[in-house]
Amino acid sequence: MHFNSRYSLLPAKLYHHQQPLPLKGAKAGHFNTALADQLQWSEEDKKSWVEICSGQKTFAEFEPLAMVYAGHQFGQWAGQLGDGRGLLIAQILDQNNQTIDLHLKGAGSTPYSRMGDGRAVLRSVIREYLAGHALNSLGIPSSNAVGFTSSEQGVQREKLELGAMMLRTSDCHIRLGHFEWINQYQGNLLPEFTQKCIEWHYPDCLKAEQPILAFAAQVIQRTAVMIAKWQLAGFAHGVMNTDNLNITGSTLDFGPYGFMERFRPNWINNHSDYQGRYTYQQQPSIGHWNLWQWLNNLIPLCPAHYEKEQWKEDLAQCLEHYEPTFLEHYKFGLSQKMGLPSFHQDSFDCAMAFLRILQSEQLDYTQNFIRLQNKEYEAIKDDCLDRHQFELFLTQYESIRDHQDTDALDAEMAKANPQYILRNHMAQKAIELAERNDFSEVERLFTLLSQPFTQQPELESTADLGPLPSDVPEVMVSCSS
Ligand code: AMP
Ligand code: MG
Repeated sequence: MHFNSRYSLLPAKLYHHQQPLPLKGAKAGHFNTALADQLQWSEEDKKSWVEICSGQKTFAEFEPLAMVYAGHQFGQWAGQLGDGRGLLIAQILDQNNQTIDLHLKGAGSTPYSRMGDGRAVLRSVIREYLAGHALNSLGIPSSNAVGFTSSEQGVQREKLELGAMMLRTSDCHIRLGHFEWINQYQGNLLPEFTQKCIEWHYPDCLKAEQPILAFAAQVIQRTAVMIAKWQLAGFAHGVMNTDNLNITGSTLDFGPYGFMERFRPNWINNHSDYQGRYTYQQQPSIGHWNLWQWLNNLIPLCPAHYEKEQWKEDLAQCLEHYEPTFLEHYKFGLSQKMGLPSFHQDSFDCAMAFLRILQSEQLDYTQNFIRLQNKEYEAIKDDCLDRHQFELFLTQYESIRDHQDTDALDAEMAKANPQYILRNHMAQKAIELAERNDFSEVERLFTLLSQPFTQQPELESTADLGPLPSDVPEVMVSCSS
């Protein structure tokens, strides 16, 4: 590994140094060799992956640390939070010379654990491990993981489960909530911290006339693009608290997430979200709300020569770009998925008509975009109670595609519509086997989801291709992890 140990250059109030506390009977779960190669792990590092991913081996080049941050959880100010069960154990350079954090989740309690036990259970580790991999393979910026380990140690949740650890990778573990903590509790550190964030993550902004405004605009832009990609893939993050969004717009901390199956925009995957704050359809506006909260923390950074009111206005102005950026990416991506030209004035209307059909007929989002791509119109119509509605849609759809370069449009569709997503029941089956020490299903899903846009008949099973029948109870997903 090539270390770039930079977080501990920050003032010591921002973290707490400590070593991981290994679990009893740690054992191999799964290792992402391709990612380890991208991260320039040596043969020796790779040989000791189980020790590294179970907290038994740390590195002289980096003293592990828990970060402190704060946040708004479910819309309420939650005060101080922080890494309550994860440690930053290294910052290393990947093949592109980009610095990547290695964060060991489930590594024991820290001063920020509050009432928690500092542990993660095998169930939630597998869910995060597979989803991070799935999102990356779909081209959605996200954390990922080099590997995970299971153990023989019981960890109490609603029932006794197995403890596990995961070595998460991300280009950034600095959350919107870091700014909230600093502004609330250590305002004097705000200028230096912000400066470092810009140097590390947005160096181009240093050249701007107002680097902080340029930085804010970039964070907003990247978050809008990330959320547009979530919406297109049908991904619901589940806990979009300000402590779970980072400043580089890569998906982080998605415990109770779900990939939507039957198209229900007001679907709540997270059963701990009683109010439905984080439904699929709310995500774009929650992103806006979170960024608004975040921008408040940049107000004290008003440069000396600036009028304070003008500074606030200029910060607010950055957020004006959020919605158009989101819509531009969402609309463009949706036309790709539909196989419609993005410039055509009726394309978006037509896409909305298709989504309305999926919604009213409770059809599977992923499966029916694939059917549209395969021109299996009859199959879609056969699933509709209101066949007339589908015929109207199809007439408009075909008339827009007439006189277009349909080969090119079809090629775009194939790049935009995954054959496979990680359905909750798929992850659940892999978890149940892994709890009995059989990781073969994790391996199969890992391979399948490595190439989500490619049909893999020899690897797929029927259950991967569609939702469970509507009379089968859904897998319950909650914040418990
Ligand atoms: P989350 O909603 O999972 O992002 O977690 C919110 C906060 O609770 C973070 O500060 C976590 O580190 C902390 N946390 C969650 N689960 C545990 C746990 N089992 N032990 C200690 N801290 C935890
Ligand atoms: Mg979190």
